[in-house]
Amino acid sequence: MKNRVYNFSSGPAVMPEPVLEKAAKEMLNYAGSGMSVMEMSHRSAVYDSIIKEAEKLLRELMNIPDEYAVLFLQGGASLQFAMLPMNLACGSGKVDIVHTGMWSGRALAELKKLAKPHVVASSEDKTFTYIPELTADMFDPEADYVHVCWNNTIYGTKYSELPPCETPLVADMSSCILSEPVDVKRFGCIFAGAQKNLGPAGLTIVIIRRDLTGKAEGLPTMLDYVTHIKNASLYNTPPTYAIYMCKLVLEWLKDSGGVEAMAEINRRKAKAFYDFLDASNMFRATVRGRDRSIMNIPFVTGDDALNAKFIAEADAAGFVNLKGHRSVGGMRASIYNAMPEEGVLKLIEFMEAFEKKEAR
Ligand SMILES: *Cc1c(COP(=O)(O)O)cnc(C)c1O
Repeated sequence: MKNRVYNFSSGPAVMPEPVLEKAAKEMLNYAGSGMSVMEMSHRSAVYDSIIKEAEKLLRELMNIPDEYAVLFLQGGASLQFAMLPMNLACGSGKVDIVHTGMWSGRALAELKKLAKPHVVASSEDKTFTYIPELTADMFDPEADYVHVCWNNTIYGTKYSELPPCETPLVADMSSCILSEPVDVKRFGCIFAGAQKNLGPAGLTIVIIRRDLTGKAEGLPTMLDYVTHIKNASLYNTPPTYAIYMCKLVLEWLKDSGGVEAMAEINRRKAKAFYDFLDASNMFRATVRGRDRSIMNIPFVTGDDALNAKFIAEADAAGFVNLKGHRSVGGMRASIYNAMPEEGVLKLIEFMEAFEKKEAR
């Protein structure tokens, strides 16, 4: 089949095939402009329609109210770990954070330099295989905001309910944005690197309540949200091609029925995979119960040599990038929106056959 593999990479990750085909078709001549989107001025009318449409689609798909700005930035989710405290930690300077894995760890490292962080709870004691229980009394009412990583890409956990806090909630949704509906109004800020569920690398989406911005003084221009809000993400040259690809992904998502329809498919894909793991005598999931991610599924056999053998044979059969993160080992299947259901079912079939063969 067109010699494409099933790519379970955690990111940059699989893109929807119709999106790649459309981009290929429009590569040399976008909409009669006689040039590629890559070659266009970001100030041109034709490009303006692309970035405006991308924002409009995201607002529509996520139901983002007007009191939130939608920004197309660079620097990855990682730069947000610093921009957020620089812009938002200017009341008490205190920031609450729930530590659930490497990405909240990276955020915490930046908070230590730029604010007064308080670790509300941590799941480090069990290698981040769960989301800690959170109660209202654990949060500091004086904190300027609370930082959470909504879906932990490496460990395969995700929140199933909102933390009980009154302060603005800031959520890293890099690996789960648009995977299921979220109520944007419950968050002060949602941010995501694009390379998992939105498009190619190089673009970061920030959705932020406007009234939280504009409180910091003396920030470098590029690190101030106000700059990007005032200039509609066109203060300097944005990642123009990545934004165009993101627009195509959003169009594809809308054509596929929107976030609710996608969530249904995602839950079906994840359920099939977890059901298989729970029934298997060889493979098992590392995360239990309600904290299981529907985007990133880590699993193990309990035997490093067998893990390695499985990864090599899967790779040869066209199921690639199943190796777990270097900090966890084992395997991980990232099954983002763009991973077709067929890819998950075929992987399960392959694993069943592998198990049978190795158990003999
Ligand atoms: C991938 C990822 C990041 C890092 O994103 P960059 O764009 O590489 O900075 C941060 N948080 C989460 C949850 C991620 O999955």
